[in-house]
Amino acid sequence: MKTQPSHPASSDCLFCKIVAGDIPANRVYEDEFCIGFPDINPQAPTHLLIIPRQHIASTAKAEAEHSALLGSLMSAAAKIARAEKLSKGYRIVVNTGEDGGQTVNHLHLHLLGGRHMNWPPG
Ligand code: AMP
Ligand code: ZN
Repeated sequence: MKTQPSHPASSDCLFCKIVAGDIPANRVYEDEFCIGFPDINPQAPTHLLIIPRQHIASTAKAEAEHSALLGSLMSAAAKIARAEKLSKGYRIVVNTGEDGGQTVNHLHLHLLGGRHMNWPPG
């Protein structure tokens, strides 16, 4: 019997549909593990999302087995930031759950740049 992947693509997940190409996105970056594309509602001059191809709902569902994947998302964000020439800096945000303000339940990094970021965030 074929074993099921631990995190199958969720048929009702927006970002799984983007990974599958069923919903269009301008892929500014892609590698074996993740893709990067502009946020539809940008909060900064540069606002990209970096998402794993594999469906993981959030960091709350991440396990030790996902360590390499999580690392590759960060590396991809750094690579994209260099390509976008964000030499003055940028912010990487990962919203998790209701209190974290997560609205799409497929783990993703926000890469924000091109303006000064305030602290603390709202
Ligand atoms: P979060 O609120 O952290 O879960 O982030 C989800 C992000 O996905 C929001 O910033 C939305 O603007 C963005 N978003 C929703 N639908 C799309 C889409 N079809 N293409 C690109 N970004 C999207
Ligand atoms: Zn998904």
